[in-house]
Amino acid sequence: MSRAAVLLPPNDLAGSELPLLTVVSPPLPRHEKAENLEFLQPDAPLRLTDELQAEIQHESQRLETAQPQEILRWVTGRFAPRFTMATAFGPEGMVLIHMLAEIAPATPIFNLDTGYQFKETLELREEVKRRYGIVVELKRAETSVEEYERQHGGPVYRTNPDQCCFDRKVKVLQKAVIGMHAWASAIRRDQSPDRARAPIVGWDKKFSLVKVSPLANWTKKEVWGFITKHDIPYNPLHDQGYTSIGCWPCTRAVLLGEDERAGRWSGSAKTECGLHTS
Ligand code: SF4
Repeated sequence: MSRAAVLLPPNDLAGSELPLLTVVSPPLPRHEKAENLEFLQPDAPLRLTDELQAEIQHESQRLETAQPQEILRWVTGRFAPRFTMATAFGPEGMVLIHMLAEIAPATPIFNLDTGYQFKETLELREEVKRRYGIVVELKRAETSVEEYERQHGGPVYRTNPDQCCFDRKVKVLQKAVIGMHAWASAIRRDQSPDRARAPIVGWDKKFSLVKVSPLANWTKKEVWGFITKHDIPYNPLHDQGYTSIGCWPCTRAVLLGEDERAGRWSGSAKTECGLHTS
């Protein structure tokens, strides 16, 4: 047991004047304080030290040509149980869930449930449970969609989608990763100029986490090839022309020849929800 807190069992208290379940915290010797810091402050964010920065750079270069499974093995070995993954159940996310089910099935995986997701997306969560036994946790904003829209005089996705994404995604993720040290994203470099710069392992300043992108070097064809080969479940909306799926008010099917993310926030300059931008 840690030296930081000793929970006395009832037998040891017989006849004593101490109340039951008293927590006794003996002072730690000076040399033990650093080692026990994590125990004392379990939710303290990870700090980017020079050593960590060097490790990130080294591992990112080393894993540049690695297969996603090797990257996942490294990150889970290095950071679990403080490693997590967020998914919107896109094809890339489904590939990573499939791999994690074999490599590290205890990895906590969550979905940012904005309240505006397609029913097909939420049904896919049930399919993940059936197929892999993995329960993807739904993380939500504190206010319901109804309350949020009432507070703002209508749907914020129409008037200020950046604010809406911030309130219903970014802020929720910030809270969801408290206590975590690393997270996985399912982005591919060939999805957009912004994503083209994604390292395999990097420091995510926005969330104070190490961020891995195991599929950064994969193409759309490789993703779908893997899905077909392993019969991985996917969102049926992809068969109806929805190449990238987010919230229903901000997603449309794409036309022949359009970019795969052209259906997201179509008609506006917005291209990202803010989770993967620095
Ligand atoms: S994608 Fe649209 S509906 Fe979803 S959080 Fe962003 S602005 Fe709101």
